[in-house]
Amino acid sequence: MSLAAPYSIVIHGGAGTILRDKMSAEVESDYRRVLSSAVKAGHAVLAQGGTSDDAVIKAILVLEDSPLFNAGHGAVFTHEGTVELDASIMRGDDLNAGAVTGVKRVRNPILLAQQVMLNSPHVMLMGQGAEDFAKLQGLELVDNSYFHTERRRRQLQRVIDSNQAVAASEDSSDEFEVQKFSTVGAVALDQQGNITAGTSTGGMTNKRYGRIGDSPVIGAGTYADNQACGISATGHGEYFIRAAVAHDICARVKYQGIDLRTAADAVINDKLIQMGGDGGIIGIDPKGNVVYTFNTPGMYRASIDTSGHLDVQIFR
Ligand code: ASP
Repeated sequence: MSLAAPYSIVIHGGAGTILRDKMSAEVESDYRRVLSSAVKAGHAVLAQGGTSDDAVIKAILVLEDSPLFNAGHGAVFTHEGTVELDASIMRGDDLNAGAVTGVKRVRNPILLAQQVMLNSPHVMLMGQGAEDFAKLQGLELVDNSYFHTERRRRQLQRVIDSNQAVAASEDSSDEFEVQKFSTVGAVALDQQGNITAGTSTGGMTNKRYGRIGDSPVIGAGTYADNQACGISATGHGEYFIRAAVAHDICARVKYQGIDLRTAADAVINDKLIQMGGDGGIIGIDPKGNVVYTFNTPGMYRASIDTSGHLDVQIFR
């Protein structure tokens, strides 16, 4: 009798100062509902024997299309009042990867990152060129206003009023989120034993000068290696780039022979804290063990583990 191959999925919708006593039951249930439908959409792909790439994409599409998260529709505004999106995806078997940055018209940037991975010799495309490539691949393009929401416009105004040239922390007009990084991401292990990780974001409120965070940077916001783990990060991108967070966690697992939880803890709760960087990660190891690690009061997160157990959480 052969044992069925394990499969699992974990997602995040950003980390930050997300406070239980400030969040209404209604808002909390909205977040829980979308997190759970995203993780279930990805899990259904895995249960049918589909690939981890497809599972990650399916989950992220739900989060990009929801106005609640800082990705796709509902992403944060730049200083100029536009939305500029970043996304990346990586596979753990052949270490193939795709990323896009500064796209303004691609409805679902994670789909474009996937096309870069599968149908181009490149890893990262930016701005107009990335959009030309999206058109060639037949992806849906929309007007930038499709991404805009009133809630994010208020956030931009508050950050501008508080005179932060680049918002180090996303100062929210929603009381339950004092500071947050509500990028989205997903990591999945499929029944063929492949791990895929993906991340999608609008970056930081009030960003300017073409600022790019960690989310589209392979090794910083996203990394996958079947000999170690898959990681998607969320947090203050400048620190995540400097600490090469996603790759560092995988490298510790691979070369130090430690487990994913211990490696993630060392990077997020020790190295990053010493540097002053806020945020967290989600990850999966080759056995399908799921990990969430963050150094902030909350992180929107959900998983369905190898036993099929659904977990949806927001606060610490
Ligand atoms: N890491 C993202 C960035 O710095 C922000 C986030 O996680 O929300 O662009």
